[in-house]
Amino acid sequence: MKPAAFAYCAPRTLEEAISLLDEHGYDAKLLAGGQSLVPLMNLRLARPTVLVDINRVDGLAFVESGDEVVRIGAMTRHHTVATSSEIRGASPLLSHAAGHIGYRAIRHRGTLGGSLAHADPASELPCVAVTQSATVRVTGSAGERTIRADELFLAEMTTTLAPDEIVTSVAIPRIRPDEGWGFREFVRKVGDFAVVMAAALLRVADGRVASARLGLGGAEGTPRRVTEAEQALVGSVLGAETIEKAARVAAEAVEPTSDIHGSADYRRRLVHAMTRRALQDALGRLEAGHG
Ligand SMILES: Cc1cc2nc3c(=O)[nH]c(=O)nc-3n(C[C@H](O)[C@H](O)[C@H](O)COP(=O)(O)OP(=O)(O)OC[C@H]3O[C@@H](n4cnc5c(N)ncnc54)[C@H](O)[C@@H]3O)c2cc1C
Repeated sequence: MKPAAFAYCAPRTLEEAISLLDEHGYDAKLLAGGQSLVPLMNLRLARPTVLVDINRVDGLAFVESGDEVVRIGAMTRHHTVATSSEIRGASPLLSHAAGHIGYRAIRHRGTLGGSLAHADPASELPCVAVTQSATVRVTGSAGERTIRADELFLAEMTTTLAPDEIVTSVAIPRIRPDEGWGFREFVRKVGDFAVVMAAALLRVADGRVASARLGLGGAEGTPRRVTEAEQALVGSVLGAETIEKAARVAAEAVEPTSDIHGSADYRRRLVHAMTRRALQDALGRLEAGHG
């Protein structure tokens, strides 16, 4: 199918892009990598009358390494997120997860900002952003603001972004050298969207779990941390038994969605399996002495 008719604008500055969004409101849509929007337009599930292409706007694709965070421009492609040594050095979890997105061609076009703004519950980058408590910088006609990743996602494909707001960058906290991480997802075949994914980040001190972060994607309408399972981990000696208990708690805590890709019960089982494997990987990295 072909998309419905639309006007195409290619602004050169952020100000110009914002003013176009401001002028056209809900009739306008930003075009970043186009890997989600264009298929939706072709299926006529999205019918913007004005497309605002931000590929020519300077200053939206960058990687800036800081002491506490790595800041990544919204137009940074998934391929760069997966392969940049600066990003990998700051968050190997994010790089690893980005490598799981779709196929090579999709990773070369799709962008970090587009993935967050699109808010597909089964997307890797929103899941990691929530797990790591990333912050998202956005600019609109009312000015600039910073949103916590867990406050960005409202429901499936729905965010707290105003129609004239543009995601400009994302700050991802650095993973400490004494933290172990794990990421697992279940896909029916390589390149498909995941049905369920789990991201884990653990720190052990004096033989016990000192801090735990566990994020899930694909299980519910938005990615989220499972604090119930995190609490089950903190203070425990990390081993097979603790991991099994945390995975069970996570599976009980979720209220999974049900769709053609899997029933709620199937997703609950996947939450258990993916959580267990992500935690085992995090433990393995801690034991090997590298996060
Ligand atoms: C076959 C296929 C397989 C895929 N598999 C996966 C997968 O496994 N995992 C995964 O995560 N994704 C997958 N994707 C989607 C892909 O990752 C997209 O790149 C991503 O979801 C959207 O990024 P984009 O840059 O292409 O955004 P676009 O498609 O250009 O835009 C998506 C939405 O975000 C808005 N938007 C874009 N940029 C901004 C911004 N800076 N500020 C505010 N709003 C913005 C747009 O207006 C639009 O509403 C797949 C896509 C295809 C076609």
